[in-house]
Amino acid sequence: MNLDEYRRAARAWLLENTPTEDPPEGEAVARAKQFMARLHDAGYSGITWPRQWGGQGLTQAEERAFAAEARAFSLPTYIFSIGLGMTGPTILDRGDDEQRARWLRPLLRGEEVWCQLFSEPGAGSDVASLQTRAVRDGDHWVVNGQKVWTTNAQYADWGLLLARTDVDVPKHKGMTMFVIDMRQQGVTVKPLKDMSGRSGFNEIFFDDAVIPDTDRVGEVNDGWGVAVTTLLHERLSISAGVGMSGQRDNPASLEALRKVVDTGDPLVRDELVELHIRSRALALFNQRLAQETNAGIFPGARGSAAKLLLAELTLFQTDLATRLVGPESVVDGNPLGFAVSLAPAMALGGGTNEIMRNIVGERVLGLPPGPRVDKTVPFKELKVGTQT
Ligand SMILES: Cc1cc2nc3c(=O)[nH]c(=O)nc-3n(C[C@H](O)[C@H](O)[C@H](O)COP(=O)(O)OP(=O)(O)OC[C@H]3O[C@@H](n4cnc5c(N)ncnc54)[C@H](O)[C@@H]3O)c2cc1C
Repeated sequence: MNLDEYRRAARAWLLENTPTEDPPEGEAVARAKQFMARLHDAGYSGITWPRQWGGQGLTQAEERAFAAEARAFSLPTYIFSIGLGMTGPTILDRGDDEQRARWLRPLLRGEEVWCQLFSEPGAGSDVASLQTRAVRDGDHWVVNGQKVWTTNAQYADWGLLLARTDVDVPKHKGMTMFVIDMRQQGVTVKPLKDMSGRSGFNEIFFDDAVIPDTDRVGEVNDGWGVAVTTLLHERLSISAGVGMSGQRDNPASLEALRKVVDTGDPLVRDELVELHIRSRALALFNQRLAQETNAGIFPGARGSAAKLLLAELTLFQTDLATRLVGPESVVDGNPLGFAVSLAPAMALGGGTNEIMRNIVGERVLGLPPGPRVDKTVPFKELKVGTQT
């Protein structure tokens, strides 16, 4: 099938299968799982992932063609976004074959939900200051500590956990990556309410939670290397909108604004053109990164530039929309108000705009790095988090 045929088939499938109404109360997760299974059966889940692990073994061209069609729909895939965009690609890149065989197909079919357990109350931008401890006990590890801002953990079966395994070495050298069973007794998940009224993320407590050593990803104390892989995928997938709803329902999109504002006003048109240009520039940049990835060229820190551009575009878009629509945009129940309340999260989750600028400055533009006085000091001697 050539690309045009692929695209037409994808559009026809989406038209026939994407739900057009909200699910009944309490059924959203079950319905989302059913939808993912159908998406996988139809060949549209894991489009570029190897067939051996449940993917479709196709190229970025098909992935992009499907994404372009999917943008016109609202797919109920949000609860899988962390698995599809971040933890799954990490297992693909850094896991062993047994781990790939065990986890990737159920993820692609929506049978299992994943979350990413990196941030802590004392370790966000500087995630290498984390204090959650994993201590080895024979063939398993015992975990104690706390994570926070964990997206979708309330639905998760598995979590990708970065934990401290050695306090006698500098902070980046004493962490290990694990996959943890979120359904066990030693894991407590408490949803947090954000200012939009949703509970998009959670705080998590580990009390003697257990992980078999077979669920370690990568070598002991090489967790930072694995985390860098996850963070790269995170920034690329956020900027490409993996698992997110399409523009169809975005009340701040150009299409939506054209319906509700006076496009005959030259000043309004000027602002809408600006929105169009910035959206297109980001789409083309993402397309270029995807093409390069397909050709074996590692996007590296440029993924942070894409994520920064999306965060800035989102804030620009919602600010513009509220200015054009006026006070009624924040009246209770207006979807634009909801979008506005979510927009600042884009400048924080996956790394803040300031951190993205630091990364782009150092790794893309080659500017001198900021001072790092704690680079060679053993972790136990640092004053971080609750450690005094
Ligand atoms: C919607 C959302 C979803 C999230 N989901 C997850 C998740 O699933 N899993 C997970 O592990 N985490 C998640 N996070 C957490 C996210 O990664 C952190 O919020 C982020 O890394 C910032 O950490 P912090 O909140 O502790 O802020 P801090 O690190 O305390 O930063 C506070 C301020 O200081 C600035 N700052 C800090 N260091 C520097 C520096 N070196 N140079 C310049 N400025 C600096 C920051 O930019 C920020 O403005 C999520 C966050 C959000 C908002």
